[in-house]
Amino acid sequence: MKIYNTLSRKIEEFKPINPPNIGMYSCGPTVYDYQHIGHMRRYVGDDILVRVLKFNNFDVKHVMNITDVGHLTSDEDTGEDKMEKGAAQYKLSVWDLAKKFEKQFTDSMNVLNIVPPKKLIRATETIEDQIELIKILEEKGFTYTITDGVYFDTSKFKKYGAFGLSEIKEGARVEKNPEKKNPRDFALWKFSGETKRQMEWDSPWGKGFPGWHIECSAMSMKNLGPTFDIHTGGIDHIAIHHTNEIAQSEAASGKPFVKYWVHHAFLLVDGQKMSKSLGNFYTVDDIKKNGFDPLALRYLYLQTHYRQEMNFTWDSLKAAENAFEKLKNDIQNLEEPKVGCAEFEQKFLDAVNNDLNMPEALAVVWDLIRSDYPSSAKAESLKKFDEVLGLNLFEKTSTKAVIPDEILKLVEEREELRRKKRFHLADQMRNKIKKMGYDLHDIEDGKTEIEKI
Ligand code: AMP
Ligand code: ZN
Repeated sequence: MKIYNTLSRKIEEFKPINPPNIGMYSCGPTVYDYQHIGHMRRYVGDDILVRVLKFNNFDVKHVMNITDVGHLTSDEDTGEDKMEKGAAQYKLSVWDLAKKFEKQFTDSMNVLNIVPPKKLIRATETIEDQIELIKILEEKGFTYTITDGVYFDTSKFKKYGAFGLSEIKEGARVEKNPEKKNPRDFALWKFSGETKRQMEWDSPWGKGFPGWHIECSAMSMKNLGPTFDIHTGGIDHIAIHHTNEIAQSEAASGKPFVKYWVHHAFLLVDGQKMSKSLGNFYTVDDIKKNGFDPLALRYLYLQTHYRQEMNFTWDSLKAAENAFEKLKNDIQNLEEPKVGCAEFEQKFLDAVNNDLNMPEALAVVWDLIRSDYPSSAKAESLKKFDEVLGLNLFEKTSTKAVIPDEILKLVEEREELRRKKRFHLADQMRNKIKKMGYDLHDIEDGKTEIEKI
């Protein structure tokens, strides 16, 4: 199996530290707002990696964090706290905000058929571990304290800048905190100071809260040991977050931190960055509300290689859905699975093992469907492929999954009206639903079949 390693900037042969066991850590979401389809692209990308590892008979321990601490995001110096800001925006406590969006995240993972990580850990539940790690760094002389917090002294860590990119954003960060010895230095612990905060903890250095990077080092090393196989994130994590994670982890342990760094490219919508103000900010729920099966979105994701920027449009989703539905229909017409097609199984394995080349893997799927192999052999191989694709190809299409919640609610109301024999109102409701693009057929027991027009 080959994978691109951001450390070497090369596609490398994957050689685990302790096969068949694999330790893998993914930087999880900050739960201050809705996770959109750009975020979810990344997590589907991680899911594919996990599934491909399993396909290769590795035993994967996948750990992910939930950033529910109001850390100062990627720009510690501005003092902006996304969690506190989100709490004010949604008129919730920071704790309830975290709960709300953690649930939205795990729900989105579920409908996209993402295998849940073996461990999903909240940053707020590991504050002690983070403090312990900062203490080690302090004992080893890697920290200094200034007015607003305890900082990591990057000049003490000779190999700072593991990816060779750390300078990129440095310019933007200069002068914002003149007390820092070096603009690249970053906060390990921030003091609450005068600010009234909903989340703060006591520490040997004073009341406050951890810096962002430290949570990932503490959680990953606690669960996977000081050196582990794979760490993933978005490409925006490379220059600062992951550079700093490496510095503080290796400074503390004296050992190499991670062997393979995997980074996912971004998703654009209609060629633009997604933002609420542009009105092009979509969640998985929006995908459902527009009548699409979330797994059609998963299919669409797989059509672009994870290191390539992807452009989402509703047309591309429609095209992906058509292909996905055709694939499922073709599969439903196959005979019972028997012995698979070795030739295509090898091709599929070659594709996924070549730096997770999913577009190629999908091409193999279609080539197999069109091939002359017996139908039962196709079925057997496709069943295996679906362990990686995660598209539930052998499940019958469930109408519930593709009908928007809004329509389902109206249909229920109409069924209720019919039960009460208020047929005139029920008919009006049927017309209303028809205008929204769905035809209803009454079947036995007062139940309804819903058909998309
Ligand atoms: P945010 O909370 O929006 O700052 O995003 C958290 C992380 O999700 C980012 O650091 C990225 O790694 C990832 N992410 C955000 N937006 C996108 C996007 N449009 N496409 C892919 N990944 C994204
Ligand atoms: Zn992280």
